[in-house]
Amino acid sequence: MRTRCLQWDAAAATIDALPYVSVSRPNLEASIALLAEAAGIRITHRTVSRACIQEIDPDFTVFDATGRRAVTAERHWRSIQPIVARSFQFAEVKPAREGFELAAGPTGYVYRLANRNGVCLGVVGRNQKGTWAEVCDRITRFAPWIVSDLCDRDFTVVDGKSGPCSLQWAQPGSRALLIGDAFLGRDAISSQGLATGFGTAISAVSQELTGSLSGRPVDLAIQRTVHAKHVIDQIGAAPFSRHSTWRQYGDFLGRAAMVDLAG
Ligand SMILES: Cc1cc2nc3c(=O)[nH]c(=O)nc-3n(C[C@H](O)[C@H](O)[C@H](O)COP(=O)(O)OP(=O)(O)OC[C@H]3O[C@@H](n4cnc5c(N)ncnc54)[C@H](O)[C@@H]3O)c2cc1C
Repeated sequence: MRTRCLQWDAAAATIDALPYVSVSRPNLEASIALLAEAAGIRITHRTVSRACIQEIDPDFTVFDATGRRAVTAERHWRSIQPIVARSFQFAEVKPAREGFELAAGPTGYVYRLANRNGVCLGVVGRNQKGTWAEVCDRITRFAPWIVSDLCDRDFTVVDGKSGPCSLQWAQPGSRALLIGDAFLGRDAISSQGLATGFGTAISAVSQELTGSLSGRPVDLAIQRTVHAKHVIDQIGAAPFSRHSTWRQYGDFLGRAAMVDLAG
């Protein structure tokens, strides 16, 4: 259990009194894979397409857990200009502090996860371009404390993947049930994706086993609405809320918060 250090709606960082538990994603995935194999599930590494799903025996149920791609979906709903997260890994760094930290700036936010194995830092917004030195310089202007042990040092920085992390969802096709992010890709700021993804997976499988699939479209609409309102409130409290990128995303969230948009 740790505490979190946050700088969101104020100019200085504060300690969040709510303790949290941090889960290592690679370890979690490895454990789940072991459990699945022990239960007799065969894991393959094939890339599937929408067309090849149609060829599966109709007596089999197909669950689409292809994340934000939702390859079997009929239609995707996302902001015209999604918010993007870019990550940096610092494996050689012995961090000055461990735990989760978050800071909001004028154009977006930065989050940091640190433990004895190193530091992972993500910058979120749009146009987070440049070298690590340039990105670090921009962060230093609004939250120097979060990168104090990561700037001006001679260590290897791995510039990781960039990808969308804003709200999106999909309309299922005729052949597969959507679960996880394929069903509803939450905004990363909520840190809810894994828990709710497991929830939709358990619900879809148990509904399948009991023969009842009713209620899923309504669930999507309600979950999307509740989530969109939550993200609107979080963005509204941050300094970047007035930036054009986030205002445009806010408009999308406002429409997403309306239950009848695509439910
Ligand atoms: C920047 C960022 C920070 C986040 N922070 C948190 C957090 O702190 N806490 C939290 O709970 N959640 C967080 N999330 C959300 C979390 O990562 C997702 O909700 C979660 O990964 C969704 O799991 P999933 O299995 O549905 O999809 P994914 O993890 O995206 O997995 C989908 C898999 O399908 C594979 N795939 C895609 N297309 C195909 C294809 N055609 N054929 C075969 N395979 C395919 C992909 O390679 C991938 O392995 C964050 C997300 C982002 C972007």
